[in-house]
Amino acid sequence: MVMNERLLQFIWQFQYFNKSGLATVRGETVEVIMPGTYNTNQGPDFTAAQIRIGRTIWVGCVEMHIKTSDWGRHAHETDRNYDAVVLHVVWINDDDESYTRSPIIELQTRVPKLLLSRYSALMENLEFVPCQRQIEDADSRVWIGFNEALCIERLERKSARIRFLLDENRHHWEQTFWWLVARNFGVLVNADAFESIARSIDIGILARHRSQLIQLEAMLFGQSHLLDQRFSGTYPVMLQKEYRFLRKKYRLQPVTVRLHFLRMRPGAFPTVRLAQLAALIHHSTSLFAKICESQKVEDVFEFFSVTANDYWHYHFLFDAESDWQPKVVGKEMIANIVINSVIPALYTYGRVRTEQKYIAKAIDWMERMPAENNAIVRKWKQLRVSVRSAIDSQALLELKSGYCDMRRCLDCRIGTNLLKKTIPQTGAAQT
Ligand code: SF4
Repeated sequence: MVMNERLLQFIWQFQYFNKSGLATVRGETVEVIMPGTYNTNQGPDFTAAQIRIGRTIWVGCVEMHIKTSDWGRHAHETDRNYDAVVLHVVWINDDDESYTRSPIIELQTRVPKLLLSRYSALMENLEFVPCQRQIEDADSRVWIGFNEALCIERLERKSARIRFLLDENRHHWEQTFWWLVARNFGVLVNADAFESIARSIDIGILARHRSQLIQLEAMLFGQSHLLDQRFSGTYPVMLQKEYRFLRKKYRLQPVTVRLHFLRMRPGAFPTVRLAQLAALIHHSTSLFAKICESQKVEDVFEFFSVTANDYWHYHFLFDAESDWQPKVVGKEMIANIVINSVIPALYTYGRVRTEQKYIAKAIDWMERMPAENNAIVRKWKQLRVSVRSAIDSQALLELKSGYCDMRRCLDCRIGTNLLKKTIPQTGAAQT
């Protein structure tokens, strides 16, 4: 049987235990008038509780432990935060002596065995989603608003990183957005390298050379070491020459993170992606400002619909000719950028400036974007979970990585709903 303090807190928070004849370990009657407010910060587990012990009503904090002796092990004895504890709730009482500090109640015989076994099953199950065999038992209403809440949680997490980048950039939104978009162009495997390349060239330098696509490419390819070899073709040789000049002029330092080409379809090679990035800079000015003022997410698709220059129509790599294929940034890639960079940046912009219209627009655009189609989302679909838009797919990605994988079932609406179903509906939980 799995018992931990978080489960004990959950049992106390929702009072999922048999309260009939509840008494302290010394026999004084106990009535829980208010269990208190769950405290995730420093200090006792519950604050503002109201407990009647014998004839006296106590108002204060409740502290939970697996064993009574944990009080001493956690050094609460010397911590003034615990002076206001009026009740010590334990799973097993192993230290009667500490009773004089605060009354103790023991719960191990009062919690339904079904709740404990269902919780153990969740914690021990190694399937994709630990509750996947019971998920259809959860009330359908638990999903109402849950996806939006999870999606916002995900946006908040991404927003924290964007704020960090913003601080680094002294609140230069365009430069921060450029770093984000460059990282996104690197998809997963080259994300770090692409962000390093973006960081290695000041956006002001790129803006100065915006009209010269070849110079933009020279800087991006040169900084990433893709020009560090002998070429026979005129085009790469020309890029090398440009890069030598620009590198010296701006004292550019090439990046140390290497690019990867392995197990990638040619259309996603970093050569192609960097050429597309250069084309994006070539075709756009004040991109983030334009996005903020756009009314429709379709306009954003237009901004990113660029094609790498003509050389890349016949190449995936330097000096290796291939069949004609214009290297357009595809709709799927743009959707990925909108979901993972544009919307989080727009949301952060609204949060930082406390302007609700940008936050609302970010959420509205997420709702309008089609759901992502990746392995995790497909697995959720197999469990018959409805996935209608990017709000749902983003929510399910967050649920999987932030809750299921961390076994945070007690913080999840599905988990609490499933566990609640193990409690008899008569009020007092039977064991
Ligand atoms: S976190 Fe929620 S959805 Fe995930 S396994 Fe636990 S109960 Fe199920």
